[in-house]
Amino acid sequence: MGMDQTSVGSLMTRRRALACGAAAIAGAGLRCSGSWVDSLLGLGDSEAPAEVFKGDAPDERLWALWRARGWVREASHYLKLDGNVQCKVCPNNCILAPGDRSHCRNKVNRDGTLYTMVYGNPCTFHVDPVEKKPLYHFHPGTRAFSLATSGCVFRCLNCQNWEISQKKPEETKDPTGPELRLRPPLPLALTYDDLSRLSLFPDDVVAVTRALGCPSIAYTYSEPTAFYEYAFDTCRLAHGHGLKNIIVSCGSIEERALRDLAVHVDAAHVDLKGFSDETYRRLNSGKLQPILKTLKTYNELGVWFEVINLVVPTYTDDLDSIRRMCGWLAENLGPDRPLHFSRFNPQHKLDHLPVTPIDILLSAREAARAAGLRYVYIGNVREVPDAGTTYCPTCRRPVIERDAYAVTSFQLHEGRCPHCRTPIAGVWA
Ligand code: SF4
Repeated sequence: MGMDQTSVGSLMTRRRALACGAAAIAGAGLRCSGSWVDSLLGLGDSEAPAEVFKGDAPDERLWALWRARGWVREASHYLKLDGNVQCKVCPNNCILAPGDRSHCRNKVNRDGTLYTMVYGNPCTFHVDPVEKKPLYHFHPGTRAFSLATSGCVFRCLNCQNWEISQKKPEETKDPTGPELRLRPPLPLALTYDDLSRLSLFPDDVVAVTRALGCPSIAYTYSEPTAFYEYAFDTCRLAHGHGLKNIIVSCGSIEERALRDLAVHVDAAHVDLKGFSDETYRRLNSGKLQPILKTLKTYNELGVWFEVINLVVPTYTDDLDSIRRMCGWLAENLGPDRPLHFSRFNPQHKLDHLPVTPIDILLSAREAARAAGLRYVYIGNVREVPDAGTTYCPTCRRPVIERDAYAVTSFQLHEGRCPHCRTPIAGVWA
């Protein structure tokens, strides 16, 4: 592990954070009570539980180290089944025998109890513009303290953060050495060794976010559903301190867990990675229907959210499928739900594919507008001058302009078009 110094003013860059090998586990919160367990028995989107890592729980030495750090906590939303346990946080619905590790790699069954190993134990964090999430209609121009742990509920072939999302906690953090909690006053610099053993419990996250002057916390980079308990407790505490919470997710989460979390969520970015079960199976090892259900649930609950669709050549670039997707979004979520098409760049297991051609992205934007969607964007491109421009849906004039993650022109007045006074959907205060 290197010893380079990194400024804590901007905290570490994502690249540096990803380079930081380390190990950890997390935990806490005895939230497994009979009342809600009963209510869960009828829930579940998947027909068969996902494959798990048999007998892959940490050994006694590592478990003791993790516990000593406070990185192990009892999980929420699970069932006890005569020594086995079943997690009900996401539609993978993992069933674990004692000693097994979950599909997302972050949970284990130890003596008939389900534990998360990533509580207070992020493997990366950074301060990002909210436009980078991307969220274009939520407090534009502000910054979000952004964090992630290891693990993910999916296996996306094109994952851009696979160095953390497809790793166990022990592969990203180091529980040996003296304890280090990051909290104000913030140090001027952290070494990679510091980062690898660093704890950030919910109260630390809140204190650090406030010290950095960020109005919001983003749970992002990997998959917050895979660090649900840590995200949940941090969201709840953050709200009590007047901070906003942003969930950046694939959307594969059980309805009960989502509704419980959404009470504390101010905005969400949901990846709609394709529009068929076949695509989800091939590209992500997931299912489409749970994602559509999540979108409808957020809509029903009135949580602000934006939808992102990565256009991957040969996987999700079929225009007929894109048209069907846009029609579903307009019909089920309404015309004001922002949709971001994102350009694919070759990486992970799809590094043999080309970048998405610009003309496909322009055709996708045209299809979305034709379906009635009012706010459609193209991300990861520099060649399209108005890729990030918000147009008034009535007078068609630009009202917000962006260059990459920077807002270069903001003309709304009290959330309305300055020219014709049409309200522009979003959270602008
Ligand atoms: S959150 Fe993790 S442990 Fe729970 S069902 Fe999903 S993959 Fe399995």
